[in-house]
Amino acid sequence: ARQLVWLRSDLRVHDNSALEAAAAKGPVIAVFLRSVPQWQAHGHGANKITFWQRGVAAVKEALEGLNVPLLHRDIDHYDQAPKALLEIARQHDIATLHFNYEYPLNERRRDDAVIAAFKNAELGIHGHHDEIAFAPGTLLTGKEEYYSVFTPFAKAWHSRLEAHHLALRDTPKAQRKLTLKSDPLPALPDLDAEPIDGRQWPAGEDAAGDALERFLRFRARHYQKQRDFPALRGTSELSAYLSLGMISHRQCLQAILHDNGGHLGDGDAGLTTWANELIWREFYRHVSFGFPEVCRHEPFKASTQKLKWRDDETGFKAWCEGRTGYPLVDAAMRQLVATGWMHNRLRMVVAMFLSKHLLIDWRRGEAFFMAHLIDGDFCSNNGGWQWAASTGTDAAPYFRIFNPTTQSRRFDPEGGFIAQWLPELAELPAKARHAPPRDMLTQLDYPAPIVDHKAARQRALDAFKAL
Ligand code: FAD
Repeated sequence: ARQLVWLRSDLRVHDNSALEAAAAKGPVIAVFLRSVPQWQAHGHGANKITFWQRGVAAVKEALEGLNVPLLHRDIDHYDQAPKALLEIARQHDIATLHFNYEYPLNERRRDDAVIAAFKNAELGIHGHHDEIAFAPGTLLTGKEEYYSVFTPFAKAWHSRLEAHHLALRDTPKAQRKLTLKSDPLPALPDLDAEPIDGRQWPAGEDAAGDALERFLRFRARHYQKQRDFPALRGTSELSAYLSLGMISHRQCLQAILHDNGGHLGDGDAGLTTWANELIWREFYRHVSFGFPEVCRHEPFKASTQKLKWRDDETGFKAWCEGRTGYPLVDAAMRQLVATGWMHNRLRMVVAMFLSKHLLIDWRRGEAFFMAHLIDGDFCSNNGGWQWAASTGTDAAPYFRIFNPTTQSRRFDPEGGFIAQWLPELAELPAKARHAPPRDMLTQLDYPAPIVDHKAARQRALDAFKAL
């Protein structure tokens, strides 16, 4: 009997649970429901949406290589998904619909509605846990609660991990050709902004696999030592691929196992540190599922709901434009706007700067990131922002406030990253780039710091203490 696979943020034919299960049961048809207005309502910008589009084109080609046609429907909102899928199921005599779960609240509601509609119509439907090793609810604390702190989560993750959690799913063999053809992929509607040049991020599984291979060959073993230095490009730059499932966490973790004598928790420090980052990704997915209030723009720590964030349009604008007068912050923000990506160390620095030094509501920063990031991912972005703003799962107390100048000296010691993104400071000697001399600012056309670190730090501490 015919099977339908509904692709979402799992745009690959290899190691795909839903596709494997469907192909084991009968001839497969795939479908993608493009929902641009819904994605925009979730804050995704042109960079991510065009990457999504290119990813669909790539998976379409891969599916056609297996003689699996990809149908395409445009819907405005998730609530149109049940009707669109039922129509296809009836039209093509589908026995069962397969999909891989997504964990944020709106996606879960969408999927629940689709499940109800299919059950109601007495059609088969099967959701698969594919995006992470442990399905939400299967990795809980001793009190049967969701973990709210990363370190014990990661410990439990390692100790409970069994081979089946990371077993790669079978890639289906090419099926017999169906008479049904793929739908053409319509061009995207006009988006609110011009996306970055797509050549920086070729889409699809092949590109993702190449990026993984290059990382493993040249950088993975130095990851622990190099990952905090944005000028070195020591990280994998796989986030955009992981967030749309052009590569899976299993493929990444299997690659580590392969290169590290079968271990994830010990062995090469670079490889194990990298594995740990993939567990962060998983942690924030569990958090979004177990504490759904974070999906409703609420803080993870309810006590911070009352925090008095400042209204400061000028400060927010300076942050967005990379004109705060703190060179590392400004270089990072310019990297984000120019490339759709930002290094993790810098995401922490700029997020803390906005939420602590400027005491501006972290949700504004979260939204700005979402609008620009090519790897924009609700769980990781929300988790990262709440961590930085001390409204989230960080185990450290709110008085950890990075000093942006110290961070700059530590993590961009040669000022190379600053020089790359702030050409106006490139002529300064390396050591002066972290805090350009005040008497040279006019000549450099670079702003003075918009806040004083010490005073701003104190203001944030007072605001948190007042809770
Ligand atoms: P690597 O260092 O090579 O790590 C490998 C993979 O592990 C990443 O691709 C990512 O999937 C995962 N990962 C690494 N660090 C984290 C982390 N802290 N939390 C969750 N997953 C992680 N990541 C996103 O994918 N999308 C986002 O929208 C996003 N927003 C963020 C916002 C803030 C404020 C912060 C502090 C972090 C955010 N991150 C986000 C996490 C992290 O910064 C990026 O995943 C990372 O910089 C991507 O680069 P990479 O692929 O080279 O990472």
